[in-house]
Amino acid sequence: AGTDSHRNPHTGITRFDDGLTPVPSAALSVPDADQLARLLALGPVRLRLALDCGWDGEYTSQNVIGQIDGSAHPEEVVLIGGHLDSWDLGTGAVDDGAGVGITMAAGALIGRLPQRPARSIRVVAFANEEQGLHGGKAYAEAHKDQVHRHVIGAESDFGAGRIYGYSSSAPAYAEAADRAIAEALAPLGIEHMPGQGGPGPDIGPIAAKGAAWARLAQDGTDYFDLHHTPDDTLDKIDPQALAQNVAAYAVFAYLAASIENAQGFGFGSAPKAEDTSTIGK
Ligand SMILES: [Zn+2]
Repeated sequence: AGTDSHRNPHTGITRFDDGLTPVPSAALSVPDADQLARLLALGPVRLRLALDCGWDGEYTSQNVIGQIDGSAHPEEVVLIGGHLDSWDLGTGAVDDGAGVGITMAAGALIGRLPQRPARSIRVVAFANEEQGLHGGKAYAEAHKDQVHRHVIGAESDFGAGRIYGYSSSAPAYAEAADRAIAEALAPLGIEHMPGQGGPGPDIGPIAAKGAAWARLAQDGTDYFDLHHTPDDTLDKIDPQALAQNVAAYAVFAYLAASIENAQGFGFGSAPKAEDTSTIGK
């Protein structure tokens, strides 16, 4: 479903709870859904559907990972990223070429600095988010013994609209470090919004295992006009808003990898008892 008035349905995936037999599913554009609703109000409707979609086997794709090794504690990692895949109707510039571009550009900026931050910065382009967070789940599984070494993670997966808010899961002991990041982000027009939001979809699985997360909340006013449609193309991206995103991720990642807390380092990452009940839902 989308928020635009075009006659392009927003593609996507339909999930069925375990134990249910999947039925064929299709998406309708908003105008066509409205028309169907009007017709249904008049009485029974017969609709002929021609669907050529379906499952066509499984393939292996890869998370693409780049890292700037920390100068003092390379084993401790600040994770940023987006997802590499997109639906094939558009070019995926908004969902999620923007997120990959924003976080890779932030990594590239930090990589060009004369001094590396104390801790590592890892940029992950997650594979196959769209069909069930497969890259994010595989990353969490592969790193389940290193949750405590993930300082904090943040994901860009909501287009390239300006970032307006910062929040994180940082506990009280990391409040000063968290506030220092928020203060550095403020000149970019970003408000500190403690206690709000949650991890993004691909960070979600490792956050569920106990990794700390941060959220750089974006203006998504037009996001659901564009995503998963032929209108998801590069011309929809505002270069100034994109640059603000890159700046914000660079500031966040650099400081998160550099700041020392009063009570030891970190933003509260600690392995949790296994609870997969909320993953992927
Ligand atoms: Zn996405």
